[in-house]
Amino acid sequence: MGRKLNTLDDNLYFRREICGNPWTSNCEKRNITIYINYKNEKKPICRSCWKEISNSEYEW
Ligand SMILES: [Zn+2]
Repeated sequence: MGRKLNTLDDNLYFRREICGNPWTSNCEKRNITIYINYKNEKKPICRSCWKEISNSEYEW
């Protein structure tokens, strides 16, 4: 009876990225909506951050 650590739930958990909003360092949401290219890096952006970014004058 071995312990199976690599369950489907674990896979899903680790595959989901955390929001990488470059204008907010403390956002850890995982409902990624879009990716932006910021300083040649692909940043995952969650839905609420994207709403804010798309309504603002941020430039990247
Ligand atoms: Zn976010």
